Amino acid sequence: MALNIAMLSIHSSPIGDLGTQDTGGMSVYVRELAKEIGRRGHCIDIFTQHNSGRHQRVVDLYDNVRLIHVSGGTRGSVSKGALYAYLPQLFHDLESFKIKQNLEYDILHSHYWLSGVLGAMAQSAWNIDHLLTYHTLGAVKQQTCPSEHETELRLTSERRLARGCDGLVVATQKEKEYLSRYDVSDDKITVIPCGVDLHRFKPLDKPSARRQLGFSEDDFIVLYVGRYAPVKGLHRLFETVGRLAHLPGLRLVMVGGDGPHTPMFRQLQSQATALNIQNRVTFAGRVEQKTLPQYYSAADVLAVPSYYESFGLVALEALACGTPVVTTPVGAMEKMVKDGVTGYVATDSDPKHFARLIEAIGLKQQQNSLSPSKIRASVTQFTWARSASLLLEAYRRALHEP
Ligand code: UDP
Repeated sequence: MALNIAMLSIHSSPIGDLGTQDTGGMSVYVRELAKEIGRRGHCIDIFTQHNSGRHQRVVDLYDNVRLIHVSGGTRGSVSKGALYAYLPQLFHDLESFKIKQNLEYDILHSHYWLSGVLGAMAQSAWNIDHLLTYHTLGAVKQQTCPSEHETELRLTSERRLARGCDGLVVATQKEKEYLSRYDVSDDKITVIPCGVDLHRFKPLDKPSARRQLGFSEDDFIVLYVGRYAPVKGLHRLFETVGRLAHLPGLRLVMVGGDGPHTPMFRQLQSQATALNIQNRVTFAGRVEQKTLPQYYSAADVLAVPSYYESFGLVALEALACGTPVVTTPVGAMEKMVKDGVTGYVATDSDPKHFARLIEAIGLKQQQNSLSPSKIRASVTQFTWARSASLLLEAYRRALHEP
């Protein structure tokens, strides 16, 4: 039986600008899974907050997938920090849309705790099964990266929602263990790894990728791709690069972020100057996903210095492009990276150790002992099609369908 699915992705749109403050892996996850599930004949409505008239109220995204913008009387998009207070009126708008269009959903899937709160309103109003994916947990974020100040409201809401929803979907076993702190029974949690678009992310010719991006063939390129958030460990990446400044042609390429006027950008710029690596850093800004394979293919190594990841999509994308990864042991890294073969998973978060691992990749690159096609082959099992099948199974289980 084809399902009618409502997804809530209220604070961040699946078609938002990837790499900016609140838009990253979660948007990719919602977009890719919806696309795959819609392709199989199920209908999905994704609800997100409206974005100052940038899009129509209803956007046909893919086969059987619609994106619906709700405003609840708000003007412009409301920041993540302020959104909680607007959730009742956003729910009212969502409910009116549902009634006007005479819609009935079989299952509701919320993404991130704010959507979880909205989802809990729908769960009781519609008497519908409610699955929840947190993407990150406030308590873990706070514990691993204290400069990420999480509100008490988020922490208590996550605890309450975990008990009240009908099922939780996480991307790693690690995340499942974190959730056990909330007294959630194991059988309520389903682990579904993320995927990667293997058609989009594939190895390109390195010299031409470098030429097109304006990098020299002799550079040793360390690439970072992602949002500029404290949890991403950017300062320790800069420290690491400071320790590698003796390497000829060393270049750190930073992809992502919200532009040169943000405090994080300025901090990183000053740090680069203090470390005397300002001429070794290229701030490329945010890059559309369709252009990212060029960056991954041009790079010698992708660095993931994060304190916490719920999965870590950029590592998977880099590996699919044949580029090795040096990472902290966060998210699904231990599953994705074959330690010593397709990269390294650092056992110590000290920049000195991280620098040694990056240098070891440099040596392997010089010896030509890293094969892009072998690196790619190590991750081809991570497909969105597989994730979608597992998610559909979780939906059917929640509905007690065979
Ligand atoms: N991304 C992008 N352009 C950028 C920076 C990031 O398209 O300039 C995408 C990247 O391809 C990846 C996602 O944003 O799919 C980041 O996901 P990840 O899981 O690595 O981190 P999160 O945002 O969830 O913390």
